[in-house]
Amino acid sequence: MNTFAFLAKSARHRPDGLALLQGAEAITYREFHDRSLTVGGNLLAAGCKPGDRVAFCLANSPRIMELIFGCFAAGLIVVPVNARLHAREMAYIVQNSGARILIHGEEFQEGIQANADLFAGVPRYCTHPVEGAEPFSALLDKANALAAAVDAAPEDLCWLFYTSGTTGKPKGAMWNHRMVRCMIMNYLADLHNIQPGEVVLHCAPMSHGSGIIALPAVARGAVNAITETASFEIDSLLATVAKLRVSHIAFMAPTQIVKLLEDYQPGKHDISSLQAICYGGAPIYVEQLKQAIQTFGSIFVQLYGQGESPITITGMSSGLHSELLANDDPRIGSAGQTRTDVEAHCVDDNDNPLPPGKAGEVVVRGDVVMPGYWQNPEASAEALRGGWLHTGDIGYFDDQGFLFLLDRAKDMVISGGNNVYPREVEEVIILHPKVAGCVVFGIPDEYWGEAVHAVVVAKAGESLTAQEVIDFCGEHMAGYKKPKAVDFVEELPVSGYGKILRREVRDAYWQGHSGRIGGGSGAKGAS
Ligand code: AMP
Repeated sequence: MNTFAFLAKSARHRPDGLALLQGAEAITYREFHDRSLTVGGNLLAAGCKPGDRVAFCLANSPRIMELIFGCFAAGLIVVPVNARLHAREMAYIVQNSGARILIHGEEFQEGIQANADLFAGVPRYCTHPVEGAEPFSALLDKANALAAAVDAAPEDLCWLFYTSGTTGKPKGAMWNHRMVRCMIMNYLADLHNIQPGEVVLHCAPMSHGSGIIALPAVARGAVNAITETASFEIDSLLATVAKLRVSHIAFMAPTQIVKLLEDYQPGKHDISSLQAICYGGAPIYVEQLKQAIQTFGSIFVQLYGQGESPITITGMSSGLHSELLANDDPRIGSAGQTRTDVEAHCVDDNDNPLPPGKAGEVVVRGDVVMPGYWQNPEASAEALRGGWLHTGDIGYFDDQGFLFLLDRAKDMVISGGNNVYPREVEEVIILHPKVAGCVVFGIPDEYWGEAVHAVVVAKAGESLTAQEVIDFCGEHMAGYKKPKAVDFVEELPVSGYGKILRREVRDAYWQGHSGRIGGGSGAKGAS
């Protein structure tokens, strides 16, 4: 079964129902279905063969959805590229995936032309008329439309998801139809059961989590509405929620939820239609989550996954959030429980399963796990050794199967022989009433090996000293976990997907210690 069947079914059930919406552009399910078959047919007519890769690098728009489903229909492998990447980074993904065609927005034209050698030989299509590229409209020639989607086996690849590459060059996690369908069904069954006609709003990059959550919305015949501006602005976001009676914000990074809390003006917009805001991709600090639930109600849905096991490892529904909060249960700070048809546990350095409460690397098995990385057998074998996906995340399950994520294995600090998880320290620092944000990491230290170091952003108008931060930590945690020193900055760097770039801040402290840049100790295992 081709995943395109999900769109075909919604088009049959709700042909005149709205499918895609952005500003004045409104596309019904019948139109979305037909346009996707047309795009798929034109990609084949342009020379693509089933199994070829088609890359796109586009700001959020309905074109993304037409390309994803067009590729499904034609048996092609779609390669979404983060629209915030530099042209050279985009070129790396285009080359690594061996993309047969690149579709991009006009904002990338300058960067592509400046790096023309890196894009040589790859036919381009652009959303606007530019030199050297066909217009996107050339993919809408009805004469080449497919009559129906090609058949697909569950193992047939349909998507390459490039990892963010914080620990090296991005790798293409291969997704097949089975994975994508399983992820869709899991999402609807376990996390949020989107209903036909409901409005799902996208305000985060659709090349990543938001675009993935568009798929269950298509499967249910819901409306995928897309904000018009690329910038993330709370007032206009909430005005859109009110105007479209949005029921679900597809995806927000924790940094966006913090901004939502900061900029929210109660009563200004009627947001009573909102039933769910999905968040994930990085830890949210417990205090901020509690504040968000107190402000907006029990509408938050947490996802924990990674490109290698999309969306779906553990999760916490909005109902579970409210239950835990009502009982003042510390498990509100967890990443929830394993999804219905996913197996996960933690292992020690030798891949032995650990009992509840013992920290180690999270490993995962199930139909949502990738079969490997694109043309990278060594990395695939390493990640999938023993038949389990090794996530690189350190955490522990409690006795009821709630997963507490501590950190990426490579972010753990080993100070004086003790393991310190930066997240634990950050969770404390963020409680300080004068602190707006922070990152914690290890820096080289002759005595300790690595010393715990904090970089802090003070709240506007507040001033605080390093000693205040250190003393505050001392009131809440073991002495060896306290930062040895604290620096202050105006703001912290954030990735195109809204993740705080701890490694970028950290690496400045490791200059001259080249072996450790971007890597930490690499140690992992039980604490
Ligand atoms: P990506 O493949 O870019 O989506 O990044 C996946 C990584 O983000 C995971 O391996 C985790 O380290 C982190 N992550 C994802 N979801 C969560 C979550 N709910 N809580 C904490 N970290 C998360």
